Amino acid sequence: MDARHAILFEPVVIGPKTLPNRFYQVPHASGFGSARPRTQAAFRAIKAEGGWGGVCVEYAPVSANSDEIPAIAADIWDEADARALALAADAIHAHGALAGLELYHGGASSPNGSSRAVRVAPSQPTSELQWGGLAKEMETGDIARLQRDWVRAARLAADGGFDIVYVYGAHGYLMSQFLSPVTNRRTDGYGGSLANRGRFWLETLAAVRAEIGGECAIATRIALHGDSGVPGAETLPGIEVDDMLALVGMADDLVDLWDVTVGSWPEDSGTSRYYPEGHERRWTRRMREATAKPVVAVGRYTSPDLMAEVVGAGEVDLIGSARQAIADPFLPRKIAEGRLDEIRECTGSNLCILREETFNHVGCVQNATAGEEYRRGWHPEVFTPAAGADRPVLVVGAGPAGMECAVVLARRGFGAVHLVEAEPEIGGRLRWTRRLPTLGDWGRIVDWRMVQLAKLPGVEVITGRRLTAADVLEYGAELVVIATGSHWRGDGVQPGYAGPMPGAGPSLPHVLTPEQVCAGQRPPGRRVVVYDTDGYYVAPGIAELLAADGHEVSVVTTFTVLSPVSNETLEGEMLRAHLHAAGVRVHHATTITQIKPGPGPGRDGGGGAWTAAGHDRYGDPWSADCDGVVLVTQQASDDGLYLELAGDPVALAAAGIGAVHRIGDAVAPRMLSEAIFDGHRLAREIDAPDPATPLPYRREHTGPG
Ligand code: ADP
Repeated sequence: MDARHAILFEPVVIGPKTLPNRFYQVPHASGFGSARPRTQAAFRAIKAEGGWGGVCVEYAPVSANSDEIPAIAADIWDEADARALALAADAIHAHGALAGLELYHGGASSPNGSSRAVRVAPSQPTSELQWGGLAKEMETGDIARLQRDWVRAARLAADGGFDIVYVYGAHGYLMSQFLSPVTNRRTDGYGGSLANRGRFWLETLAAVRAEIGGECAIATRIALHGDSGVPGAETLPGIEVDDMLALVGMADDLVDLWDVTVGSWPEDSGTSRYYPEGHERRWTRRMREATAKPVVAVGRYTSPDLMAEVVGAGEVDLIGSARQAIADPFLPRKIAEGRLDEIRECTGSNLCILREETFNHVGCVQNATAGEEYRRGWHPEVFTPAAGADRPVLVVGAGPAGMECAVVLARRGFGAVHLVEAEPEIGGRLRWTRRLPTLGDWGRIVDWRMVQLAKLPGVEVITGRRLTAADVLEYGAELVVIATGSHWRGDGVQPGYAGPMPGAGPSLPHVLTPEQVCAGQRPPGRRVVVYDTDGYYVAPGIAELLAADGHEVSVVTTFTVLSPVSNETLEGEMLRAHLHAAGVRVHHATTITQIKPGPGPGRDGGGGAWTAAGHDRYGDPWSADCDGVVLVTQQASDDGLYLELAGDPVALAAAGIGAVHRIGDAVAPRMLSEAIFDGHRLAREIDAPDPATPLPYRREHTGPG
């Protein structure tokens, strides 16, 4: 280990417990809750195995009137829930880490879709955080009942083996609803002054401490101010940093570990687009004004040097992490063993949050094994030796899918893996994506794989060679994996329309694809329409690039909001504000159906050589004059090579090729995480009887009775 990083491996006392080091996986949602306890346990245990000294499960509602359905939380309402969650505590302990459970109540923001319980809030008028009605203003009896629920849940957590038990006070949930003068309008002892608004939280902390204080460390999560004014990153309304620090002072005797977040979720889990590593520091370091107790804060830390700096400066005691712990559960061990070049750095794309928010199985763009530990038995660092690993393998195409597949094949012991790429550089679509404004950190996907490919014995990466079917047949490989990806169509084919768009075409100077723009081509004139039916990062990225080049850019999107997918990565509001500031105009819910000759340039700077014409959401005609159009409509798989090879089994047999497989966008254009998963899965299962069909995975059934 580098001596500079030794500080990260010091034990830290938190109340009656001792963390073995300063790496702490903070509570974060997984979608497994207490409903899929084995999946949950394996997902958390892998982090303990990888060296995280503290590992928490996600938010754990203490009663049925904080029911999160359709989201899945770690409900701890009764003993059956506690037994389910105890699997995670046991699995975490098995690797010497402490286990944490974040007891939670959502108050007015709990959907209660399943329980049909009335939502509760400190005050009714300001409680409209969910559609479908207001919450009940809590009576004193409701407050006492909820505190009893919290204490009961704390007892269940302690009996279930958890070492760290939370009173969750951040992110706009019930505790925060009491703290904020905007949502708390009470006139009794729980409203009004700061001390009164803090009473519910302080009383709950005291009650939990009275119940389990000698057995467990009591943690609480709070939110400090954050960047007010950043869209989507609004703070706890009416609570400034000084107010929060005053509350910290009031509660300090009751707390063993302060878990500090900043602003609201979009800021706290800020993407790499808008927030650098450690962006919370200027707020979190202020905790030292109010407490000498241990403090944990996140910061999307990926650099051990920066982690050591933050701890060394005394700003925090523990390095908190959710996303980096997903991207690389073995980060602490790699730091301890000096294997820094093997750390899979989080890209800060928030694809994990997108998957969780849209109720998909958790997933990570960097770590294809995340969430697959139990159901597929995948380990991020351990690879079973493949049967038939003496067969030479050719992987065609070094995009995300091909790179990942080659890495995993080599780790499974294949002795000769050739990864051949047509372009001079590996990376596939990331070659240009990482050069779009603000998306540089996505390049970590390529960088990590490039470093591993160079280190793995038996791997050869060959660039600048576009293989034909004849080349593949002559290559001398026995296994062939086609990972040739996809391209953006220039013909304007879009959802809901059968054929190409009249006036569009792949080789017209005024109609460009995103790849052409990224390769340096520009529309012939100032006014550009970027047409988006994709809904994610490409159209905004192209618009920003062209605006920065001095073009007058309008994005025309079929969606009712620009880049709806970015809402799920928590960056939608910031992205839209960013484009607005860059002078990009947006037309929503509008469809372009043809590109036709325009009126020519107008004297007022308007007009244009071309007109993009179509209709608005009501079917009424809509058009815009411009000098060029960029079509972000659809991608098409580059599957020609695969189809040619797979269609000639005789030639394959004659060439000694036992199997040709296809992965990634060459199968179907998908999100980056899914292309990487596809490449990983094939390599994990390449020696299965039918590698093209994913092996069944284990599911958790409740079972009859
Ligand atoms: P994916 O996301 O599925 O990995 P990409 O489109 O990002 O797909 O990457 C595919 C890569 O395959 C690109 O870098 C492309 O240049 C490369 N490629 C496509 N056809 C060939 C070929 N015939 N020979 C070698 N490389 C190819």
